[in-house]
Amino acid sequence: MSLPITVAVSGAKGRMGREVVEAVEAEADLSLVAQIDFGESLADVLTRTQPLALVDFSVPEAVLGNLETALIHGVVPIVGTTGLSPGDVAHVRGLCRKHKLGALIAPNFAIGAILMMRFAQEAAKYLPDAEIIEMHHEKKLDAPSGTAAKTAEMIAEGRAGASPTQLPAGAFEKIPGSRGGKGVGDVPVHSIRLPGFVASQMVIFGGAGQTLTLRHDSLDRKSFMPGVILALRHAPLLAANGGELVYGLEHLL
Ligand code: NAP
Repeated sequence: MSLPITVAVSGAKGRMGREVVEAVEAEADLSLVAQIDFGESLADVLTRTQPLALVDFSVPEAVLGNLETALIHGVVPIVGTTGLSPGDVAHVRGLCRKHKLGALIAPNFAIGAILMMRFAQEAAKYLPDAEIIEMHHEKKLDAPSGTAAKTAEMIAEGRAGASPTQLPAGAFEKIPGSRGGKGVGDVPVHSIRLPGFVASQMVIFGGAGQTLTLRHDSLDRKSFMPGVILALRHAPLLAANGGELVYGLEHLL
C-alpha cells in the first residue's frame, strides 16, 4: 500500500477549515499533519511538518502570502479561499512556474456548482444575455463570490463573440449599484448577504419571449468536501506537473 498523502490545513479553526479537518481525518489515504490558523507562522509549521499539500480556507488578505509560502517550502497549495482577482491568479501562475510546482485554485469545490458553471457556459452560446445573482451567509467578507466571478468569465467565453443586448440610451440607476457590478464579460453580478444561506447562485438568461434559470444551492459546507478530497488525491500529480496552476476543479473531473 502506498504512503498516505500528508496534508496541512490553513484556516483550520474557520467554518470551512473545521469541515476540511474532519473530512481529511476520515480518509485512510490522507494524513493530517498540521492545522494552522491566524497568528501562527505558516513557514515554521511547514518546515517542521513537511506536508505534501496545504489546503487553504483562510481570508482574502492572507491567501496570496500563504500560497507563496507553500510554494517556497515545496508544498502543493490547494486553495479554496476566494477574493483573488484575475491579476492575483496570473501572479500565482508565475509563482508556480518559478517554483516548478503545481497548485489548484478552486473558486467552488461543490460538484453541483461546477456543473452549473459548465451549463451556463453552454447556454451563453445561444442566449448571450445573462445576469448572475449569488447568495451567501452574512459573514462572507468578499463580494462578488469567486464562483460568480468565474461564472462570468465562463459566460464571456461561451458567448464566443456574440454581444449581449445593450441597455437603451438614457438608462440610469436611481439607486447606485442597483444594476449590479460588472467585471469580466460585462455580466452583471448581484450579491446578496443574508443569514440562512451557505452558498447559492442563480444564473438567469434572457431571450426573445423566454428566460432560462440555472440554480445551485450548497445547503451545508459538507457539499464542498468531496471536491477537496478529490483535489488532495490529485496533489501528487500537481507536485509533478512542472509548475502549472490549475484554476477550477472542473479540470480534475
Ligand atoms: P472563516 O470562518 O472566517 O474562516 C477563516 C479562518 O481563517 C478563520 O479561522 C481565521 O482566523 C483564519 N485566518 C485568518 N488569517 C489567517 C492566516 N493569515 N492564516 C491562516 N488562517 C487565517 O471563513 P470560512 O467561511 O471558513 O471561509 C473561508 C474562505 O473560504 C472564504 O474566502 C470563503 O469565501 C471561502 N470558501 C470557498 C469555498 C470553495 O468551494 N472554494 C466554499 C466556501 C467558502 P480568525 O477568525 O482568527 O481571523
